[in-house]
Amino acid sequence: MNHRTPAATVGVVGGGQLGRMMGEAAGPLGIELIVSDPTPDCPAAPVVRDQIVGDFDDYEAIRALAERADVLTFEIELADPDEMERVGEETDTPIHPDPDTLRMIQDKLVQNRALKAANIPTPAFRKIDTADDLIAAGEELGWPLMLKAREGGYDGRGNRPVAGPDEVEEALEEIGGSALAEELVDFERELAIMGAVGADEMRVYPVTETIQEEEILRALVAPARIRDSVRSRAREVAFEVLDLLEGRGIYGIELFETRDGEISVNEIAPRPHNSGHWTIEGTNCSQFEQHLRAVLGWPLGDAALRSSAVTANLLGDVDSTRTAELAGTEAILETPDASLHWYGKREVRPLRKMGHLTLTGAHRAVEDVDRDQLLTRARALTDSVSFR
Ligand code: ATP
Ligand code: MG
Repeated sequence: MNHRTPAATVGVVGGGQLGRMMGEAAGPLGIELIVSDPTPDCPAAPVVRDQIVGDFDDYEAIRALAERADVLTFEIELADPDEMERVGEETDTPIHPDPDTLRMIQDKLVQNRALKAANIPTPAFRKIDTADDLIAAGEELGWPLMLKAREGGYDGRGNRPVAGPDEVEEALEEIGGSALAEELVDFERELAIMGAVGADEMRVYPVTETIQEEEILRALVAPARIRDSVRSRAREVAFEVLDLLEGRGIYGIELFETRDGEISVNEIAPRPHNSGHWTIEGTNCSQFEQHLRAVLGWPLGDAALRSSAVTANLLGDVDSTRTAELAGTEAILETPDASLHWYGKREVRPLRKMGHLTLTGAHRAVEDVDRDQLLTRARALTDSVSFR
């Protein structure tokens, strides 16, 4: 590969914290990002080349991105697959992951059907349009059920457990519009795997334990504290999911481990995912760098464990929206193996994801690293580089 500066320009629909961390990963590789986001001065803005202010379905904004980019990608499911596809055709810009993959994932019913058709285990589910559908689903799958809006849900919004027939009307009103019902899984724990699809290879990261409270991700433990048989089954299922997806990029695969050690797929995210934030410190190639390598068709990076890691989300601890102010970080900053990530959001809202911290435990001198050998290898590698 020969590189000039920038080595590549990547256009990203969405400029939230995922875009910000993608921008942080892009810098060392000489990659420049341009993001489009409706919020002026979005979280990614300070670390990218440029922000175009526009909605996730704004044709002009996506077109402006594509005209300056070598490849178009997205960091949010609200990116409009139709507009991206149109712009991709008009400007001859590749889009990764494929807009078809995004369409499939945007609709949780379509997503579950695709998984089922590929014989990938999911919770049992039914399409729900009417109260009668929901009552019939409860009779077949058993109460309680998990009712989910087909589109637009995030951080548990758009989901509602339904205890029995008495709650059917109220639940449907709350969800509004077209929905699906899933059997309520009695899980032992929730797991996730980040998987990367490159030009001609696939790689998965170590299985991660995801700890949710009130349906919001609070913490991660990597690698997950699970039996080897569960770990290998989770990896196997993850590869089956990756096989199903069109287009290069990083994917987040959310899993349930049931009480009897079975794995089923909760949902897929066609982008970097909260469950992979620990990879920044815990691996040599973070999920963000991996995504950039993948969409550009570059060789994928090492997804193996560098060090164990625990990540905790920093969520908005307010009752109502207000200007964000970060305080009390001294303890984190004084902890040798703690890394603080602050997303720079101007506003804090109740339970909004404002940042995270990761601990690796790796803060003592590692006595048995052969530094002479490292130096020799590093020097040899510099010799292979030229700027002619
Ligand atoms: P995210 O929080 O990842 O943005 P989301 O809002 O799209 O996701 P889901 O992942 O579908 O929602 O659900 C959020 C959480 O609700 C899950 O992580 C899990 O804890 C719980 N949950 C979802 N579906 C089920 C189910 N069928 N049975 C039991 N619990 C479930
Ligand atoms: Mg989820």
